Amino acid sequence: MKNITIAIDGPSGAGKSTSASALAERLQLAHLDTGAMYRALAAALLQDGLDPSDPDQVLAHLNHYDLSVDFEGADQHTLVNGIDRSADLYTSQVSRAASDVSRYSQVRAYLVAIQRKLAESQSFILDGRDIGTVVLPDADIKFFLTASPETRARRRWSELQARGERLGLEEVLADIEARDYQDSHRADSPLKCADDAHVIDSSELSFDQVLDQMLTLIQAAGLELVP
Ligand code: C5P
Repeated sequence: MKNITIAIDGPSGAGKSTSASALAERLQLAHLDTGAMYRALAAALLQDGLDPSDPDQVLAHLNHYDLSVDFEGADQHTLVNGIDRSADLYTSQVSRAASDVSRYSQVRAYLVAIQRKLAESQSFILDGRDIGTVVLPDADIKFFLTASPETRARRRWSELQARGERLGLEEVLADIEARDYQDSHRADSPLKCADDAHVIDSSELSFDQVLDQMLTLIQAAGLELVP
């Protein structure tokens, strides 16, 4: 049977990873969070004292970093040189550094090759910024999940609070807007909606409503995945 691929793209804080993992559980598919790969590489660079915003430093050392992804049930473990980075990925510092390293074409080419290889191995849901446009332009169904910057900032702020990071809402909003700008203005694979993606604006929707819309569209596409 042919592998099925589902692409979910969108800006940070739109709820991609949460809806992708819920969808994966519902449909019994594997889920790859590609943002975790950019974050893991950024976390490893920072730990080694390198500056992710300096292309010379990153590119001179890129071939010293071996990134791999393991799955333990639904849990994704993203490893760099055999060290599981999954616990260090969601600080503001790593978020900014991930956005920095994601600008470099060599970094993207390296990570996209791993993503495509995984998606060839079995049916997968991938979430990220460029899945429907670059990584898997022939994905069986594509979603572009978005929400207003204010809604996304509020969600991210609550997550950071829960993790004990004390940032003001204004600061989180500024950070989200800066990352949106950087992600959508980079030369290689900028964040943009694929022409054939289904756009879902989650600003006024509950998590369950987003999931329902996705499941309805998947059924309408005749993918015969919904149990
Ligand atoms: O999705 P998440 O916020 O975890 O991604 C972290 C950063 O990684 C994003 O801000 C973006 O710069 C980068 N990214 C990317 N392409 C992807 C996934 C993430 O450029 N497919």
